[in-house]
Amino acid sequence: MPDCLFCAIASGQIPAKIVGENPRTIAFRDINPQAPTHILVIPKKHYVDVAAMAGAEAGLLDEIASLAHSVAADEGIVESGYRLVFNSGRHAGQEVPHAHGHLIGGRPLSWPPG
Ligand code: 5GP
Ligand code: ZN
Repeated sequence: MPDCLFCAIASGQIPAKIVGENPRTIAFRDINPQAPTHILVIPKKHYVDVAAMAGAEAGLLDEIASLAHSVAADEGIVESGYRLVFNSGRHAGQEVPHAHGHLIGGRPLSWPPG
């Protein structure tokens, strides 16, 4: 069992509600949803945060964004709109040290964040 929670989810060792997958990325429902749709989209390979992931592998962020968009389409929230956010590091309040984008939608979202 890997030390990292999201590595364990990506390898199927810890269960999650998987909603989409492509060769390098996987999407699953957040355990504590903040909106009707709240999905995490992660690289299968471990990167501590989006800063470490950006530029590490050509096209990986693109793959995350396109999987998020296709899940958003499945959830029926493309027309109403959605947010795709990455908390990276301490000031952003990142809690799980494996890069992940939050796909959030299904209700109006406030802006700016606190
Ligand atoms: P962060 O604060 O690091 O950007 O977000 C971590 C997210 O992971 C939180 O929204 C939290 O609810 C979610 N999370 C934490 N543990 C688990 C888990 O075991 N399974 C799932 N599906 N989500 C989790
Ligand atoms: Zn990991």
